Amino acid sequence: MPRSRRCAHCRKATSPNGAPVTVVAVRDGRDVYACSLHREELAAPAGDPLVAIAQYQDMARRRGAGR
Ligand SMILES: [Zn+2]
Repeated sequence: MPRSRRCAHCRKATSPNGAPVTVVAVRDGRDVYACSLHREELAAPAGDPLVAIAQYQDMARRRGAGR
């Protein structure tokens, strides 16, 4: 299944400053991305180990893309 890296709130793929959206939570087994504007309202409670894993995997995928 293709993953779309878009903010779960505004559906943008990048933050206003141009940085890519990041994983902030895992909901129903799916990564939830957020731009910098909506990061706080979409973020999972601090210390959720699933989120740490998802962020690590997301970074690994970015490196794997070679960009
Ligand atoms: Zn957003």
